[in-house]
Amino acid sequence: MAPLRKTQGFCIRRVDFSETSQVVTFYTRSEGLMRLVAKGSRRKKSATQGRIDLFACGEMVYIQKRPGTLNILAEFKPEELFDGLRHSLQQAYSAFYIAALLDRGTHEGQASAACYDFCVGMLETLASGARADVSRMVFEAHFLDELGVVPQVGRCVECSGALPGRGMVGYVVARGGPLCRECAPDDAWRVPVGALGVVEGLRRASPAAAGRISIAPKLRPFVRDILTRCMGHALELEPKMLQYLQEVRCD
Ligand SMILES: [Zn+2]
Repeated sequence: MAPLRKTQGFCIRRVDFSETSQVVTFYTRSEGLMRLVAKGSRRKKSATQGRIDLFACGEMVYIQKRPGTLNILAEFKPEELFDGLRHSLQQAYSAFYIAALLDRGTHEGQASAACYDFCVGMLETLASGARADVSRMVFEAHFLDELGVVPQVGRCVECSGALPGRGMVGYVVARGGPLCRECAPDDAWRVPVGALGVVEGLRRASPAAAGRISIAPKLRPFVRDILTRCMGHALELEPKMLQYLQEVRCD
């Protein structure tokens, strides 16, 4: 019999599987995304302490099966349920959005302890009642890094030339960044230079800082659009689909 393994994880998707069991997807610290069967989890007295809730987070003991088949969740002790997420629709939608991005943007066996820790920090921040719109943007900026799509901010992505210190610059999502005046085609999407600095600030922010960041109202729609368009490009999702994942606009 395969040996029991242990890791930390939180639930990002769950489906009832039979009268007594669930199929769950966890984002884990040592294995990345993981799909498991939780046998008997819908019984009150079970090895998972009852039905597994979304975002329930803690130590899990599992049996790893062959790639492509479901692993078995042998034991799960939820240590954190992020109850604050259930107090507001905005906080809940932002957490669902994080779960949806993890589900689409990562795969089994692609582990990143740093990304896991960042996600748990983000859920804590959201559960504590921090502004959902800014928290979501901090997560997007960080997750783009995880996907290997770091939005360039300082220089033209075409010629590496310096950008103007103020005003508007062209931005090409497929190239992941801004273009100087000489390189930008006339019909390029244009964003304020200030919005690029904000994106960089969000990318460097810790989850705990997310609640303290304020973005000038005139830059906010551009910052949100840069992140949404880059994310759509990185995940190969239509903007409409991404908006559907975001469910509600937070501002
Ligand atoms: Zn240029």
